[in-house]
Amino acid sequence: MSEGCVRVAVRIRPLLPKEVLHRHRVCVRVVPGTGQVMVGEDRLFYFDNAFGPSVSQDEVYESCVHRLVERLVDGENATVFCYGQTGSGKTYTLGGRSQDEEGGIIDRAAQDLFIYLAEKTKESDVVDVTVKVSYIEVYKEELRDLLQLQTTHKELLIREDERGNTVVVGAKEVVITSAEELLSIVEMGNALRHTSTTGMNERSSRSHTILTLQVVLSCHNSKNSSFKSVHSSKLCLVDLAGSERAGKTGNTGTQLKESAHINTGLFALGNVIRALSDQSRNRHSNNSGSAHVPYRDAKITRLLRDSLGGSAHTLMVACVSPSHHFVAETLGVLQFASTAR
Ligand code: ADP
Ligand code: MG
Repeated sequence: MSEGCVRVAVRIRPLLPKEVLHRHRVCVRVVPGTGQVMVGEDRLFYFDNAFGPSVSQDEVYESCVHRLVERLVDGENATVFCYGQTGSGKTYTLGGRSQDEEGGIIDRAAQDLFIYLAEKTKESDVVDVTVKVSYIEVYKEELRDLLQLQTTHKELLIREDERGNTVVVGAKEVVITSAEELLSIVEMGNALRHTSTTGMNERSSRSHTILTLQVVLSCHNSKNSSFKSVHSSKLCLVDLAGSERAGKTGNTGTQLKESAHINTGLFALGNVIRALSDQSRNRHSNNSGSAHVPYRDAKITRLLRDSLGGSAHTLMVACVSPSHHFVAETLGVLQFASTAR
C-alpha cells in the first residue's frame, strides 16, 4: 500500500449578490495557472490547487477528489475536510443536498463509487460488496448520531478494533446501494442536525460533521477458495465548524465554553495535520525521525485517526470569501492551510 499524503486546495467563492449590492471589493485572487493565491497586492500563499470563483463543482471534484474515490475502491482510507469561516462555502463544496442541481463532493463521490464498484464486482475473486454510511456530529466535544433520532443522546464511544480501525460504538450504520440513497440519508441527517436549535447556521458554525462511507469487499482467497478474505476501507467527508470560532476572545459564559470546545477540535486538527506533513517531508528527505501525532487531543482527531496519516490520503479544502470585508479571517485561514502542506 502506498504512503498517504496531505494535499491542500483553496477555493475562493464568488461574491454573493448581497455583497455585490453592498459594493464589497474582491481582494483575494488565484494567480492563473498556478496553485497560488494572492491577497491584496502582495501577500502570496502556495497550495497544491487553487480554485477561483468561476471554477465549477465538477472541476473541484475531478482535480482532487476523484482519485481518492478510486483509492477507496482499491482498499485505501481517505479524508476530505472543508475548513474556513462561516459563509465561505464549506457546505456548498461538500454538497449532499438533493435540491442542489450542481451537486458537490458528496454527490459526485457517491455516483463514482457505485460505478467503480459495479466494475469491481466483475472481477472474478470478488464475492460481495457492501457500502455502509454513518453520519456523526461533534458539538462541544460530544458526539451525536445524525442517523438515529431516538438515541441521539445515547453515549457514543470511540474505540479502536483489533485491526487498528476506528469504530464508534453505538453509531448507526446504514447499508446503501445507490447514490440516491446516500443523498436522502444525508438529508435526513441534516434535518436532525437542525432540530434542536433555532438558527441552522448558528449550530452548523459551531459543530463538525463527519459523513463516513465504508466499503467492505469480500473476496475469494486466492490459495483456498473456500476461505473468504474481507477488505474494508473508508472515505470520511468532514464539514468543520467555522474557523472564526477558533481564535475568538471576548466571549463570555456558555459562549466562552463553547468556543473553547470548538477551539479544541480545530486546534487539535491543525496540530495533527502539521505533524503529518512534517512526517511526509521527513520521509522525502530520508530523515526517519517520526514526529508524534497528537490524535488523542480532541474527539474529531480521535474519530479520524485511521483516516488521517499512515497509508490514508488527506485533502483539506480551505474555503474563503473574496471580499475585502473578511480579509483578516481569510488571511488566518490561508495561513493555517499553507502550514498544513
Ligand atoms: P459555510 O458552509 O462555509 O458556512 P456555505 O456553503 O453555506 O458556507 O456558503 C455560503 C453561501 O455562499 C451559500 O449561499 C452558498 O450557496 C454560496 N456559495 C458558496 N460557495 C459558492 C460557490 N463556489 N459558487 C456559488 N455560490 C457559493
Ligand atoms: Mg456550512
